[in-house]
Amino acid sequence: MAKVIHEREKCIGCGACTGVCSDFFEMGDDGKSMLKGAVQKGENFELELKDAGCCKEAEAVCPVHCIHVK
Ligand code: SF4
Repeated sequence: MAKVIHEREKCIGCGACTGVCSDFFEMGDDGKSMLKGAVQKGENFELELKDAGCCKEAEAVCPVHCIHVK
């Protein structure tokens, strides 16, 4: 199992995560990306997956390091 955590507050809306991982990330109306299907936990959004898949690439390309895969 993998957990993906998106610190959406820190997102600068560069779109890099949606470029490498459109299966899990899309841009929201407010210009920040959204982790599809994630549940809000405080200020963060979390998604549990069997396989993190391209979320690892999204974690790697995010310039402000607000995507975490555990
Ligand atoms: S790569 Fe990071 S900063 Fe850029 S849109 Fe995605 S979450 Fe936001």
